[in-house]
Amino acid sequence: MPRLPLSPCRIAAIAALGATLACDGPGTGPAGSPAPGGGTNPPPVTQPLDTTGWIETAPGDAPLVIVAPHGGELAPAVLPDRACVGCVTGNDGNTQELAREIVEAVVRRTGRRPFLVINRLHRRKFDGNRDLPEATASYAPLEPVWRGFHDAIDSAKARALRVHPRVMLLDIHGHAHPVARLELGYLLGAADLRAADDVVGAGIAQSSIARLGTDARSGARGAELLRGPLALGTLLADAGVPAVPSRQDPAPLVGQEYFNGGYNTSRHGSRAGGPVDAIQIEHHASGLRATAADRARYADLLAAALATFMRAHYAWPAP
Ligand SMILES: [Zn+2]
Repeated sequence: MPRLPLSPCRIAAIAALGATLACDGPGTGPAGSPAPGGGTNPPPVTQPLDTTGWIETAPGDAPLVIVAPHGGELAPAVLPDRACVGCVTGNDGNTQELAREIVEAVVRRTGRRPFLVINRLHRRKFDGNRDLPEATASYAPLEPVWRGFHDAIDSAKARALRVHPRVMLLDIHGHAHPVARLELGYLLGAADLRAADDVVGAGIAQSSIARLGTDARSGARGAELLRGPLALGTLLADAGVPAVPSRQDPAPLVGQEYFNGGYNTSRHGSRAGGPVDAIQIEHHASGLRATAADRARYADLLAAALATFMRAHYAWPAP
């Protein structure tokens, strides 16, 4: 793992513990006493939970925030495994490393450093892309960690907005779907994307780049922002990395799997207002994140595409 030139600042929130609370899903956390509802309570905790290093942030000076919610490797025994109904506990492999590489590639490309926020906890302990109950499997002592993670993203966004009035946030993920292509998530479903351009264009107001739909400096509007010549997917596909949606691949076909965004794109993008747009990028493994060489090569391609995209639509970096 490459070392960052800037020392990351680690958020050290101390969660005071007292009550014992159980995950409300089936199964159990660590061994404990039977609960009235048939589950099992975590063991009593008698000392504060030291969360130092579970959330990592690194400051930047670019209007760009990189978030890695599913690439953590820490699995402290003090935390119960998430066992709630439907909870996904598998990591997106190498996405923490990929996020770090993307930051360095943007520095090489633009001379400016994106802000970085990483969840260092393994997904079987904590999910950085879910609402509070699912993220923590209702294990109350993790609530300050969840708040700390999203506060860190809010802080990065606020500081990025001091650099430039418009900001992009990228939420970095990995998928294992059969089609090896990037899946760019804007909170628009596959069926929404299969619609005609005028219908898709009307949907931009409900997307995670809603603000861009009103003020792109390029003059692009509507579906053009998703699959026009200067859409991020199109620029990446032009560089040899297939992506959906893009001009080359406008929408997932019926029956094809596709991730269209999640909690972070919804909470931290511009659907609910504000000047920060968000895009979820789901990466296939081969050629992009499987090896260090893959990550370095791909990160450079992404940085180049991002610079073109942001220059066109956000007037950053300056021509
Ligand atoms: Zn993910």
